[in-house]
Amino acid sequence: MIDGHVHLIGTGAGGTGCWIRLRGAQKALAPVLLASFGLTLRDLGRDDFDDLLVERLLGLIRAAGLRQVLLLAQEDVYTGRGERVPDRAAFYVPNERVLELARRHPEFVPAVSIHPARADALDELARCLEGGAAVMKCLPNCQDIDPRLPHYRRFWEHMAAAGLPLLAHTGGEKALPVVRPDLADPRVLEAPLECGVTVIAAHCGTTAGWGGRHWFPEFCAMLPKYPRLYGDISALALAGKGRFVRGLLAPGVVDRLVHGSDLPVPIQVTPMLLERQIGLRAWWRLRGIRNALARDIALKRALGFPEATFTRIESLWRRGGSR
Ligand SMILES: [Zn+2]
Repeated sequence: MIDGHVHLIGTGAGGTGCWIRLRGAQKALAPVLLASFGLTLRDLGRDDFDDLLVERLLGLIRAAGLRQVLLLAQEDVYTGRGERVPDRAAFYVPNERVLELARRHPEFVPAVSIHPARADALDELARCLEGGAAVMKCLPNCQDIDPRLPHYRRFWEHMAAAGLPLLAHTGGEKALPVVRPDLADPRVLEAPLECGVTVIAAHCGTTAGWGGRHWFPEFCAMLPKYPRLYGDISALALAGKGRFVRGLLAPGVVDRLVHGSDLPVPIQVTPMLLERQIGLRAWWRLRGIRNALARDIALKRALGFPEATFTRIESLWRRGGSR
């Protein structure tokens, strides 16, 4: 089994180049997010925090019986003209950090993150491909990436030529500051799809928990038209997502889904009980699973996602990246 959506975070301890900026919603969420790794707010001050988090994550992966996880770098926010926008992002993880961790630990498959407006975007892409990148991850609505901009075309064409898929956030977002809400629409991904890029629409255009707009019907309507389009079922454990389960399991949709947890987003099991997607007995069994990665897989099996969901990403990511 493979988890295709796991976030790395870090404070920069030990010279990793990562940073976290805790403000507003992020400050309130931080204890919950850290708890997913078995860490607390106090641990953030440790001078070995970044390595400690990796150790905890490796422990979770091994105990959950996962073969590999797609480990995500996190790019900064840039304008369409390639100027970095300081103070907008909540956290940052350099590509070199995930590439280096993947070289050291076979459990990690590296997903790099590159804003295509960067003046050095193509050079960075070449460096990342050389370093073993398996996927490129971005959040168009949070990082201000409008994939339709004509000057991004060359970037998508290079990704397509290299066989590097794009994992792009779609739908609602509550854990990170949103810069362009309109770019949560999966239809903006038609541009890279038309350049030949394999695209995984994270969350399939659904909401981030309760309320807010969603683009799930739009995502489903794109599937027959774009055979290279997939979706991930990460963060499905959030409250308010039960209403999407039936649609996700529909023929024509379910065979295009890949599993991901979105760790450290919390894996709760009570919402799916309250939203009548699992019964009491399944709920009781699931809530006893302490390991968040294992709990998420067990929840998705209980919801009826077939076994192929848990390995499909292997057929999509760039070979050489995964070794
Ligand atoms: Zn995510």
